[in-house]
Amino acid sequence: MKPNLDTQAREMLRAAKLYCTEGRATILKVLMKAGRPLSQNEIARRSGKKHFDKVTIYRTLESLLRVGLVHRAFMEKRARHFELAHHCTESQCHPHFTCTNCGDTTCLTEISLPMASSPHKGFVIHRQQVRLEGLCPACA
Ligand SMILES: [Zn+2]
Ligand SMILES: [Zn+2]
Ligand SMILES: [Zn+2]
Repeated sequence: MKPNLDTQAREMLRAAKLYCTEGRATILKVLMKAGRPLSQNEIARRSGKKHFDKVTIYRTLESLLRVGLVHRAFMEKRARHFELAHHCTESQCHPHFTCTNCGDTTCLTEISLPMASSPHKGFVIHRQQVRLEGLCPACA
C-alpha cells in the first residue's frame, strides 16, 4: 500500500474525531485502495490479517459508519457492500455501474442524477441509490 494512504486514513480519523486504531486505519486504506464498494468478506480478505476476525471487522465498520466516514452502498449476493462516503451526500449516493458479464462494479462519482420524487402518498424518500447495469470497457 502506498505510504500516503496511511497518512490519509489517519487524517480522516482525526477529522472525524475517532481514535486512530490499526483496525480503523486498515479498513479505510482497504476501501481507499479498492475505489469501489466491498463486502465484509472482501474487506476481511484484503485487510490481510488473520486475527482480524468477522466480529472485529463488523465493530470497526460500525464505528466508521457512525461517524459517516463509511456508508452502506448496496446489497449484492445477500452481502452488504461498504464504501468511503466522501463522494456522497446524506440524501444521495453516486450511481454504481455493474457489468453483467464480469460482475465488476464501478463508482460513477462524476454523475449526479436528479432526486426522484415520492411515487405514492405515504412514502418518504430518505436516500437515493441508483444501480446501472451493462458492459464495462473490458467486456464491451
Ligand atoms: Zn456512496
Ligand atoms: Zn465487464
Ligand atoms: Zn461508490
